[in-house]
Amino acid sequence: MDNGAVLKKNLFIVIIFLIQITGFSFLLIFFQNHSLHFPFLVLLVFSASSLVLIRLELGLVLYVIEMILVLVFLAALRYPGFFLVNFIITFLCLGVITTLIKLHRQRHLNSLKLQVESVEEKVNLSNLDYFELVKINEALEKKIHRFTDLRKFSEDIIANLDLAELLNIISAKSLEIISKGDLALIYLFDGKNDVFNLASSYTLSSKIRIKAKTGDPCESWVFRQRTPLLINDVLRDFRFDSEEIFSYGRKFRSLISAPIISRDKLLGILRIDSAAADEFGVDDLRLLDIIAALSAIAVDNAFLFQKTEELAIQDSLTKFYLRREFLSLLEKRFKDKPQDGFALLMIDIDNFKKCNDTYGHITGDLVLKNISYIIKAHLGKNEYACRYGGEEFLIFLDGSSQQDLKDRSDAIRRNIESSEIKIRRNKVNVTVTVGAAFFPQDGLNIDSLIEISDARLYRGKRSGKNRVVYE
Ligand code: GH3
Ligand code: MG
Ligand code: MG
Repeated sequence: MDNGAVLKKNLFIVIIFLIQITGFSFLLIFFQNHSLHFPFLVLLVFSASSLVLIRLELGLVLYVIEMILVLVFLAALRYPGFFLVNFIITFLCLGVITTLIKLHRQRHLNSLKLQVESVEEKVNLSNLDYFELVKINEALEKKIHRFTDLRKFSEDIIANLDLAELLNIISAKSLEIISKGDLALIYLFDGKNDVFNLASSYTLSSKIRIKAKTGDPCESWVFRQRTPLLINDVLRDFRFDSEEIFSYGRKFRSLISAPIISRDKLLGILRIDSAAADEFGVDDLRLLDIIAALSAIAVDNAFLFQKTEELAIQDSLTKFYLRREFLSLLEKRFKDKPQDGFALLMIDIDNFKKCNDTYGHITGDLVLKNISYIIKAHLGKNEYACRYGGEEFLIFLDGSSQQDLKDRSDAIRRNIESSEIKIRRNKVNVTVTVGAAFFPQDGLNIDSLIEISDARLYRGKRSGKNRVVYE
């Protein structure tokens, strides 16, 4: 209660008290010596007014003062002693009873206060529980959100067998799911050259330029440790030399990185960079690791699919197309550019049986491989070759100038003739015979052109080998 309210209350009590005293005085003066019932009337009015005072809680002192004043009045009016004694006893009894009632109420009030306190305590505890629950709820909601993201992510990637497309989805989605950092990168491990090649990147900022196409020391670390990596600030991290990392053309302060491992084989690394320090937490790293683990299966599948596709169209030794794929490419070229000239070359290695017999089959394979490299080096952008038979190749050369095509055919033959493969102490060199057919001069469809080139090859063999037959 503030001071103003207390003052008002006291004023109210004093006014009531004054009214009572004035009232009693008038009553006493009016009824003086007229009635024996007068003292009881006084007591009745007095008790009622005292109860009001006591109820207002400040009454006890005033009650006693009031009693003394009434007694003084009664004594002044010379009331009979019997009534005065009676009055005092009644008065005291009333005072004791009201005080006892007041004490009882006080006690009741105290116990109520205790109850209120304990309820308040419980409310506080419940509030704490509530806030704890709110926190748990938020964390759960976040987890459910992440779980839904991850499920959607798995659905998006699992059926995708196109490696490039798949990697682009993984880099974009991982940045979206982590929703921190500014650049997602995927490196694929090239086991032959022991290097990490950048296979996909995704950023929301148009300012970021990726200069280095191979991994930096962070990738080497993940490769060696085979565990996820969290760098809070590359300038403060004792494990890395920031100068060295920055020399790769990367400007970042923090990163998370996780290995993409499938069937115990490290396929690549998924990494998110941030230009700000302390951007990521352990939770983010854990999430990235889950994304990398989910990606690993899909990337492995895409790798296998790519390999299977290559095997279906490519010869494993020379990496040239198989006959069927070659012919379908040729047919497509025929349809797309029906007027443009080209040459078909049928190539057969001379005396290859002898080469095999002399140096062994494995050497023979190396010779085949070497010839395939030489032929490849002579092929232009839209030109291709196929392994037509065991040691026979069919080549498509593009161009309308017959002379130019002839020159190129002979250049291939000469190059093979002059190349040598060293096997142990032996120097093996072979020659080839080539049958060439030209479109549109020699025929207007693929079958007849192949037939002609084959016939010319045959003629070349019979006329001494190591030559190109054009006619
Ligand atoms: P020619 O000059 O008349 O062509 O004589 P050649 O001995 O080369 O005879 P031919 O073309 O018939 O030779 C085919 C030989 O090529 C038979 C086989 O031993 C060998 N050959 C075919 N495919 C392979 C292969 O994949 N590896 C190896 N090492 N040899 C092969
Ligand atoms: Mg042959
Ligand atoms: Mg041969």
